[in-house]
Amino acid sequence: MLVSGRLTPKALSVGLIAFIFLVCVTLVSAIAWQLKQSADERLMNAQIAVSNIVRASEQQAQDTLRQAGSILSNLAERVENDNLDAKQRTRLFKIMASNVEATDGIQGLFIYNKNGDWIVNSFSEETVAKNNSDRSYFIYHKNHPDSAIHIGQVILSRTTGEMIIPVSRRTQYPDGSFSGVVLATLPVAYFQHFFERLDLDKQGVILLALNNGDLLARRPMIDGLMTTNIAKGELFSRYLVSSDDGIASLTSIVDGIERVYAYSRIQGLPIVAAAGLSLDSVFATWWTYVYQTSIMVVLVIIVLTSLGFLFYRQIQRLLVAEEELRLAQHDLEHIAKTDSLTGLPNRRYFDATLAQEWSRTCRTESSIALILIDIDWFKQYNDHYGHVLGDECLRQVAQLIGKNINRPTDLAARYGGEEFVILLPETDLAGAIKIAEEMRSAIETAKIEHRGSTAGIVTISAGVASNHQNGIIEATDLLEKADSLLYRAKKMGRNRVEHQLREVLET
Ligand code: GH3
Ligand code: MG
Ligand code: MG
Repeated sequence: MLVSGRLTPKALSVGLIAFIFLVCVTLVSAIAWQLKQSADERLMNAQIAVSNIVRASEQQAQDTLRQAGSILSNLAERVENDNLDAKQRTRLFKIMASNVEATDGIQGLFIYNKNGDWIVNSFSEETVAKNNSDRSYFIYHKNHPDSAIHIGQVILSRTTGEMIIPVSRRTQYPDGSFSGVVLATLPVAYFQHFFERLDLDKQGVILLALNNGDLLARRPMIDGLMTTNIAKGELFSRYLVSSDDGIASLTSIVDGIERVYAYSRIQGLPIVAAAGLSLDSVFATWWTYVYQTSIMVVLVIIVLTSLGFLFYRQIQRLLVAEEELRLAQHDLEHIAKTDSLTGLPNRRYFDATLAQEWSRTCRTESSIALILIDIDWFKQYNDHYGHVLGDECLRQVAQLIGKNINRPTDLAARYGGEEFVILLPETDLAGAIKIAEEMRSAIETAKIEHRGSTAGIVTISAGVASNHQNGIIEATDLLEKADSLLYRAKKMGRNRVEHQLREVLET
């Protein structure tokens, strides 16, 4: 991973990719978390808003119905205890008219006898010859002996033609038998007006419904309000079953819009109030924010990854350049120590190796030998065959010399011109003579044609010297000795190996 204190390019690339990935993941997570928080906050605000609307609607319905209830109780008490002669009816008419006048939300008051005939109404002092025995509230009271307030399904008023909520109470004779009904009519429009004043957008809804699901009032108003029952909707079938009030997200069965609702059963009355804000409008600005933020995040990620890609490519280029440099350096090192013509190590490399091996030999007091080789009559070869073939001959001889190198520590080099040198560490004179002789013999056996030579083929002469002989103190002594022995080989007829031992024997 680390090269002299710095990261390798590969580790750098991996690190870069990991870093960019981490930054992107962190960014996306942070933004997602923030969006989630803001969505939760919006939903909570919507829940607070609908809860407040429900509380206001509940209060208003409760006030209106309680007032109607107390007026009806009062009227029933009079009907049951006073005789309803003409004088009394006039009095009742005045009381009822002033009650209607004084009470918001009550449109009319009526007294019916046990047959459903109109006895007194708040609209006119005259007796009206109408009968309401067919109305469901009338039938209800006739059949139910309790004297509680009854709130009926919305109906069309026979007096005004408006939609009204009938609020009624039974009257009875002292023996408990049915004597008629007192009725207060509450116009649906009264509740509608109140709903219109509450803060709600177009998709929002406020409603009042009877416990059985019959709608009493709704904003926005719908056609067929009077006949609409929402008992099958989720609000009634699921939520109101388990709790009298609460918050719920559900889809309206009236208009199919998904909303967050607050709902509540109105205490003491068989009525449910509910208000809802559409999820579309609650989250409208949030979605815009989500789109804008997402575009921004995507742009940031694109810029980041593009930059990362650029860096990555630069690193890859650096990697390639570094490898090319390493190969070039390797080639240069090879070129610097190799002879281009023969492919053997060159003189410079030989000199350096000789110095090294010489000092090692001195340290370990071991033996080292050196062979100096020179091609015979090579000037004539060039003169006869030309320089190009001369070069080819040099290459052949070099190859044959190289083939006779066995140990990895042995070194055969081109010494210069048509001269070669072989350095043999850990080798005594006898061993070196053997190698020199093998080389000479190999070249002779190769029978490379040489018309300029007396032998007719290419031959070599060699001088062999080793350090365990008199007068060899320095590496240069070894070289000089081998050179003088080579000279001796030339003088003695060429195609031969001369060495120190023979020299000693023959002098
Ligand atoms: P001797 O047997 O005494 O060594 O005779 P010689 O002709 O080989 O001796 P000399 O040293 O006078 O000549 C060496 C010749 O080798 C001179 C030159 O023309 C030839 N020579 C040296 N280097 C090269 C080379 O790189 N290529 C070729 N073609 N010839 C070379
Ligand atoms: Mg020579
Ligand atoms: Mg020569």
